Amino acid sequence: MTDYAPPLKEMQFVLDHVAGLGAIASLPGYGEATPDLAAAILEEGGKFAAQVLAPLNATGDAAGVQLENGVLTTPEGFPAAYRAFVEAGWPALQFDPDHGGQGLPWLLSTAAMELWNSANLSFALCPMLTQGAAEMLALYGTEEQKRVYLPRMVSGAWTGTMNLTEPQAGTDLGEIRARAEPAGDGRFRIKGQKIFITFGEHDMAENIVHMVLARLPDGPKGVRGISLFLVPKYLPDGEGRPGERNDLRCLSAEDKLGIHAAPTCIMAFGEGEGAIGWLVGEENQGLAHMFAMMNNERLAVGLQGVAIMERAYQQAVGFARERIQGRDEATGEPGAPIIRHADVRRMLLTMRAKAEAGRALAYAAAAMLDTARRHPDEAVQREEAALVEFLTPIVKAWPTDAAVETASIGIQVHGGMGFIEETGAAQHYRDARILPIYEGTNGIQARDLVGRKVLRDGGETARSFLARLRKGEESLAPFQDPAVAAIRARLVDGIDALSEATEWLLHAGKDDPRRSMAAAAPYLSLAGTVAGAWLLGRGAAAAHQSLDSDAADRPFLEAKITTARFFAEHLLPPAIALRDTIARGSDPVLALAEDAF
Ligand SMILES: Cc1cc2nc3c(=O)[nH]c(=O)nc-3n(C[C@H](O)[C@H](O)[C@H](O)COP(=O)(O)OP(=O)(O)OC[C@H]3O[C@@H](n4cnc5c(N)ncnc54)[C@H](O)[C@@H]3O)c2cc1C
Repeated sequence: MTDYAPPLKEMQFVLDHVAGLGAIASLPGYGEATPDLAAAILEEGGKFAAQVLAPLNATGDAAGVQLENGVLTTPEGFPAAYRAFVEAGWPALQFDPDHGGQGLPWLLSTAAMELWNSANLSFALCPMLTQGAAEMLALYGTEEQKRVYLPRMVSGAWTGTMNLTEPQAGTDLGEIRARAEPAGDGRFRIKGQKIFITFGEHDMAENIVHMVLARLPDGPKGVRGISLFLVPKYLPDGEGRPGERNDLRCLSAEDKLGIHAAPTCIMAFGEGEGAIGWLVGEENQGLAHMFAMMNNERLAVGLQGVAIMERAYQQAVGFARERIQGRDEATGEPGAPIIRHADVRRMLLTMRAKAEAGRALAYAAAAMLDTARRHPDEAVQREEAALVEFLTPIVKAWPTDAAVETASIGIQVHGGMGFIEETGAAQHYRDARILPIYEGTNGIQARDLVGRKVLRDGGETARSFLARLRKGEESLAPFQDPAVAAIRARLVDGIDALSEATEWLLHAGKDDPRRSMAAAAPYLSLAGTVAGAWLLGRGAAAAHQSLDSDAADRPFLEAKITTARFFAEHLLPPAIALRDTIARGSDPVLALAEDAF
């Protein structure tokens, strides 16, 4: 099993040259995000990830969680690691100093989150959900809720969950049945059962703050009748310390394919008189409020995809250097490590290029989010916010689909040993498999992209995204270097294909929603691949500019250019072919009669 080596140089490069940390640091309130601070965060975070979290990844996977008499125990080492994580201040990076945060850009916390997720995906889910819940409370909570809960959640002392799913209400949250009855004192009594609740119960923190979707007695049917409630495991006493136990418990923890160390709980609320909860935001607006958390989590899940790709890639490279098999294809010498075989190189480069493209996408989206929040010009804020909305389903789905594929290739690189748990390659594959499912399946992301982001505004945001891609492509024009020129040539083809596919959706797809929905997944795949090539091209151009001035970093910079070229010449062409799938493939999808399946 290969240890995790945080890719600090690569992360710093993407922060500086792809996401534009310098421009983010010039936004009001982000002045502290200097290159030195970024380097220190990566350095220290990298040590924590590699030394504290990564060693618990395989042991946590093997041990899983235990539930006995309502007490859920996480694997050995997890509670202590979480305490150390909180003591080091890691959960608070991007939060407002008024709530105990460090006021840093999301871009920097995104980089830090990659470290936690690569080192230990199960562990990282706990702070990830807490962060989403705290973000939502900061937006919609009352002053009192913020005073009591936010500093404790921002510090990580209390953790957060999201309670949406019920047995009959998965994708379709309009079917939610959990109820909330006014208790007459401003509080509510919550009753109902939730399933699949990540870190719904655990032993890592002194309190758990559940964000629960439920219906008020007079709420309208469907999604418009859902409200959001804050339901703590322990009711805070007068001093804000965990006090009386609330009427909620974990009925069971699921036995699942991966992320074994992250509890997935069936939660019962209100088996007695009803769990005490407080309304967050407005009545019947719960789903809209929850989306503030879900959009945030969707970007974070995409980042989980990046993280697992990086980990699977490191594991595969480590194995490919050591496994001796066959002759060196160049010299004919026997006893070659398999990394010398062209097909193994192809597999490794596929993994590496997808990981780098996913990272570029996730970091660029985080930078756009920071710009949308802090830029002094409101027109820029609006434009960036629209682009983040457009990119959110792409950032969630593209790197997570790529993560499953990449982790699978990682197993393939190992040959038979990849199928054997001992190497660790299989865990990455098992862990990655949840990513395209939770936080809205990737099919739903594709629906969102096509229905809400492309069609709803008549293609306005899609076209402004395409204009940005064209500008990116044009900025590569001055480079004479054959690799950068090759990237540009393929990128032009990719942008043309995406543009044609968008116009097809806007015309042919508009009249028949089923046709556009049948094309949604290939459209997302094309958009994600072209966006990846755009950002890798930006990185390749920056690397090329530094080649002469930075002799020590030459091998790293050349590798950046080669990887981007591989992406453009090897991975982009099959995605470009999706233009035809989009234009012609919907009819057969819809043609087969239901009973013929
Ligand atoms: C390990 C794990 C952790 C989770 N953590 C949480 C959590 O912390 N909190 C929480 O609330 N939930 C959580 N979930 C639930 C998760 O978000 C749901 O499983 C997911 O949203 C899909 O819902 P479902 O399982 O009911 O599938 P379904 O909705 O039944 O979907 C089944 C299939 O049908 C497709 N489908 C459904 N509706 C449509 C449609 N309208 N158009 C096109 N295709 C459609 C889906 O894409 C999918 O392929 C977790 C789930 C797991 C497995």
